[in-house]
Formats: sequence, structure tokens, C-alpha cells
Amino acid sequence: MVTPENRDSAAARAKTLRKELERHSRLYYIDDAPEISDAAYDALMRDLQQIEAAWPELITADSPTHRVGAPASNQFESVTHERRMYSLDNAMDLDELDAWLARIADVVGDRACAYVAELKIDGSSISLTYEDGMLAVAATRGDGRTGENITANIRTVRDVPLRLRDHVAPAPAEDTLFAAVDDSLPSWPRITVRGEVYMPKASFERLNNEQDEAGAAPFANPRNAAAGSVRQKDPTITASRDLATFIYQIVDPRALGLARQSEALEWLRRAGFHVNPDVKVCANAAELRTFCTEAIERRDELPYEIDGVVIKIDELALQDELGHTSKAPRWAIAFKFPPEEKTTVLRDILIQVGRTGALTPLAAFDPVSVAGSTIARATLHNQDEIARKGVLIGDTIIVRKAGDVIPEVVGPIPGLRTGSEHAFHMPAACPSCGRSVTRLEGEAVTRCTNAACPAQRHQRLVHWSSRGAMDIDGLGEEILARLEAEGLVHDVSDLYVLDAGQLAVLDMGRVKQDGAPVLLGETVASKLVESINTSRERGLARVLFGLGIRHAGSTVAEQLAREFVSLGALGAAAAIEVPEPGEGLTRAAALAADPIARVEGVGPAIADSIRTFFEGEENRSLVARLGERGVRLADERIENTRPQTLSGLTFVLTGALATHTRDDATAALKELGGKVTNSVSKKTSYVIAGADAGSKLAKAIELGVPVLAEDDLTRIIESGEPPATATD
Ligand code: NAD
Repeated sequence: MVTPENRDSAAARAKTLRKELERHSRLYYIDDAPEISDAAYDALMRDLQQIEAAWPELITADSPTHRVGAPASNQFESVTHERRMYSLDNAMDLDELDAWLARIADVVGDRACAYVAELKIDGSSISLTYEDGMLAVAATRGDGRTGENITANIRTVRDVPLRLRDHVAPAPAEDTLFAAVDDSLPSWPRITVRGEVYMPKASFERLNNEQDEAGAAPFANPRNAAAGSVRQKDPTITASRDLATFIYQIVDPRALGLARQSEALEWLRRAGFHVNPDVKVCANAAELRTFCTEAIERRDELPYEIDGVVIKIDELALQDELGHTSKAPRWAIAFKFPPEEKTTVLRDILIQVGRTGALTPLAAFDPVSVAGSTIARATLHNQDEIARKGVLIGDTIIVRKAGDVIPEVVGPIPGLRTGSEHAFHMPAACPSCGRSVTRLEGEAVTRCTNAACPAQRHQRLVHWSSRGAMDIDGLGEEILARLEAEGLVHDVSDLYVLDAGQLAVLDMGRVKQDGAPVLLGETVASKLVESINTSRERGLARVLFGLGIRHAGSTVAEQLAREFVSLGALGAAAAIEVPEPGEGLTRAAALAADPIARVEGVGPAIADSIRTFFEGEENRSLVARLGERGVRLADERIENTRPQTLSGLTFVLTGALATHTRDDATAALKELGGKVTNSVSKKTSYVIAGADAGSKLAKAIELGVPVLAEDDLTRIIESGEPPATATD
């Protein structure tokens, strides 16, 4: 929440929030085409509610916080609801649910109070009125007082009963629940029920595929597809949309002799309505909590969308006693699922300098809790991405966790701008070393090219000691920063001359309560020395990866280590002058002449980057120092004694193998001189297909490439003989 500092800024903020909420409300309810997620809309609504709670004099009669939905469009005849259709108040988490329960307890006192927990169906509200047991009018909620007449459309929804089942017609006088009735007495009172019309997930997908094929815009979500489908001018379109309903309320249940919501649901079911079976009468907060948390877990398995749980007081007399606010009943609450998106304010865009000198803009925003954890930073990747998202510093932004893990800025809410926002510009100088930065043509990344830049140096040290590289246990960012600050470490080779005595007295840059500096201490120091020592033996692939050569990721490092075995041999290969492809020299010939580029999975770009590394005098002396200080820079070559019977043959592995891992099978084929690639082409000699093989197997069959089974693979590996025949 953006906390306004004073009444004036609160008033201005409330005004822009109202305008923005109204715009989104129109897009959502009238156009069925929302621009932002429900969670982002709810977050803006919360902001406005909080301002109105702090400054009640700012509440206006038309504030969206006091209104239901949006006025009915004039496309349909209007229907005045006999009783108002309300929205629901929300509980955004279990604590807010507890607060609501506490408010109810204040009113109920010692009396027994049961609750009904129902799933909150994410569809569109409808009202159905039956005259003499026959469907007479179906209407949308509209603004709660007046809705749209959609009877012709609702008649096409298959699970809406056009006629109520006779056997639940109430007895004419002093009825008892579900009393048998005399058929000769047409005793139906006028009955209005309410519920949700929704589109099942599968139907939604089908519909959007059809929209796509027809070149029409897809619907944002099943809710909007359902709302759009029941508000069609042509009922045959509604009929084609595969809608369904869940009915959950009788407007005047007393007329039917009912005393509880749970009884009303049962009555509805027996009358022929589609009633959601996932209902539980709960006696207390613990049972309600369990229902809510289980609903969150089951959400994805359900064939329709739900966006929460609706909790209602079971006893209708108690419901009447509690009544309504201007917007919602006091006797019910919607427990909304934890939102994956929130709004916050972008305070600044910071610059992070990475180990290769890339300047990465980082969004710094007011901390918000998203999907269970608090976030305050998210990468914006580069200048182009900022321009694409259109965010300005000072904007109210929507943030989420991508894949529920990595914080991400979705975009700004431009309607909430005050004019004080400003654009971000990449700095012309590196914020760490002050040298000017460059952005190469065609590249999205701006870089600091000063290899001595302190930020790059720090990131290089962090990378070297990281788990995937030299895996130096206990050597994290903080200790590294202190070692740099104290002048003990300038590059990774300095780590290997640190002794426990020196480390034990490392000033951690903090002070104790008595004012004495916090030191690293002997225990941590000796453990750290041990981890540094262990890292000397990690081997060539880890060293190569740890050096952070551009484009040389861990897989490339492993390939190079396998091929060259020692850093010295790789350095020697990097010194060989390689011909450029061009006149008279094909790409393939140039590649074959380059000892590094020709290694599988490497290629010319990575080879260039490795040559650039070894050309640097400071890099060569760093490598020399690492060697002198006991870091092992060469692996032992494992002699391959197997005959090269598969030489010249190319294999592709696909599908799930039962008795080999992919890596083992690949290594075994290579040991016999075979080549293993990822994609099937005419040059592929054999495809080895495990269970559930898909497109690669299809491609092999299409190209006539022989297909082998896993048994064949086992035979080849064990015997060392090339495949005799192909099986498919
Ligand atoms: P709501 O959806 O939060 O809750 C009320 C509605 O829940 C009821 O009217 C009813 O239709 C429905 N419901 C589903 N199952 C129910 C059950 N078992 N018992 C009772 N009711 C049940 O409120 P609303 O007023 O319909 O809509 C407001 C919500 O719509 C906002 O919270 C927001 O999430 C969304 N919205 C989004 C945008 C946007 O731009 N994305 C704009 C406006 C509104």
C-alpha cells in the first residue's frame, strides 16, 4: 500500500484510484476484457479502502468501495431485482478470516453458530426467477439493483432447469421440509434463486483455440468467457459455448419453510438445480481453516476455476440479524486465495554490475508479500526491457513471482501517475568504478569493460566460490566483501594463501554491544581454510567454469576439460592462429581448423571468448598463480581401451530409458567412438528410442533412419559391436 503522507496527498491518491478502478470495472463487467488481473484489481481496491478508513471524510457516495459491479449495459432489457444482489467482503488471508469470525462472535455471543463453507466459483452471478415452477426470467447482477435480462441465453445452458421438479414444491400451509405434495394443487410460489454461470476449464481452452483459428481475440480467462457468453445478442452463440451453473442461494428461503443455508442447498439440489457438492457445514474456525487450505491445494485439480471459499452463517435467522452493508452481507465472507500479484511503488532503479561487467537494472520497490514471501527487488534485465514494460520511477507497479519463485515486475498502472514520475536512463559511467560504459550494436546489454572494476572483481570471487564452481563452503558474499575491504584478496588466487590466523582476526565491519569489533573467529577461520584447501582438488572443469570466461557455462567447461585435460593444453590451443571463413574457406573447413571451436558443443563464438581470455596478460598470470598456489589445473587422462567400433556413426537418444541414464548411455557410446547428437537428421545413423518417445521417433520414421530399442543399446555397450540390424 502506498501510504499517503497527508490528507491532501491521500485525497489526490483516492481520486486517481477511483478513476482507475472505475475504468477497470467497466473493462471487466461491461466489456468482458480486463486489462489487469483480479489480484491487481483487489490490491488497488484495498489501497482505496485503507485511505477511506484513515480519512473517512474522503469517502464519496459513488466510491467503488461501496458499489456492486457496474451498471447494466443498454444492450439488454433491464431487470429490477426484487431484492438487491450483493457482492461479498473479502478476507485476504486466514488472519483476516479470524478477524471476521471475531466480529461475528461479538454479535452471536453464547449462541451456537455453525458455518457453511462453499467453493467460490469464478464465473458470473445470475439470478433465476421461476413462476409456477417454470423459468420466467434470468438476469445478470448488474449494479446489484438492476441487471440485464438474459433469459433467452440462459435457457440454452443445459443444466439450468426450465421447470422445477414437482416433488419439492412446498405444501400450501404449515409446510414441513420436502413434504409430499398433492399433484392436483399447483402450489409453486414465485421463487428466485441465485448462482454462478461458469465455463469449465476444458471448454475455455477449446473456445480460445476456436477463437484463435477464427482470428478472433482470445478471452482473458474462463470468468470473462462465461460473462461474455451469457451476454450475447444471439442465443445460438451462447448455446455453442458449453456453459454450466452452480446455484447456491434462494432469495426467500423462509417461504419454502427453510431455516438454514445447508437446507437451502439441499432443497436446490432436489429441485433439479446443479449444486456444487463441495460443501461443508463447519462448527468452528479450525474446521473452516482446514476447508480453506484444502481448497487451495485442490484448486488446480477441479475442472472449473475457483477463486476462494465463501463462508456463510448457516442459520438464516442469524443472517437476518446481521444484515448487510451497502455492498455486501455481514453474514458471509469470501476467503480469497493468496494472490500471485500485488501492487507497490517503484522507488528506484538500481544498477548491479555483474562479473562480466554487464550493468543490470534492478527495480527497488516498497516491500510486498507475494505468494507467501516478502519481495522488494526484481531484475528489469536491461534498458530495452524497461522501455518495453513502460515503467517510470515513482510508478505504481504490479509485481508477481514468475513460476512462483523469481520476483518479476509485470508493468505499471499508468492511470495512477501523478506527473512526478520520471524515466530511467542507463548511466554513462559504471556506478562501481566510474569508467564509461559501452553498449555494442545489436546487444541489449550495457557493459563496464574495465576488468579491474571492483564490482566485477567482487562478483568474480563470488562466482569462483559458488556451488557450481569451486564450491567453497562458508565463503559467502559478506566474508568476501570483508576480505576485499581489508586488502587481503584481490583475485581468486589470493584465497589460496590465506591462513587461519589471518582469517580469525578478520574484522567483519560490525561492532559488539561493548563497542569491540566483531571478528571472524578461530572456529570459522579454520573451517574456511579447510574448505579452501578442499577446493584445490575440484578439477579442471570446475576451474574453467569458475574463471567465469564469457559464454563458458558448466557444460562447455566439462566438454573442454574432457578434450584438453589441462589448462595448459587449452591455453596452447588458444594460442594457435585460426583461419577466418571467407574466400576459398568454407565455414565447415574453418571450424575443422579451429582446435577449440570444433569441440562438440563449443563453436566459434565460445572459442573466440576463450582466446580473448588467454590473450589477457593478467588472466595468464592469474592462471599461473593458481597453479603455483596448489590449485589443480589438470585432470588425469583416463585411458580409453575400448575398440572404436562405432567410429563414424551418429546416434540420437530419445524417450525414457529404463536401465541406463542418458548421461551413461551417451558416455558409453562415445567410449566406443560413436557420436551422440540431439536432433534427428538424414545424417543420423541410428535413433535409440525408449518408452514414450515422441517427435524424434516420428522424425526418424519419416526420414527412414533405423530405430533401435533399449535392448539393442545394451547389447552394443556390452559387446562393443556396432548394431547389426535395425528394429522398429
Ligand atoms: P467477488 O467476485 O469478490 O465476490 C462476490 C461474488 O462471488 C458473488 O456476487 C457471486 O457471484 C460469487 N460467488 C461465487 N461462488 C459463490 C458462492 N458459493 N456463494 C456466494 N457467492 C459466490 O465480487 P464481485 O463483486 O463479483 O467482483 C469483484 C471482484 O471482481 C474483484 O474482487 C476482482 O477480483 C474482480 N474484478 C476484477 C477486475 C479486473 O480488472 N481484473 C475489475 C473488476 C472486478
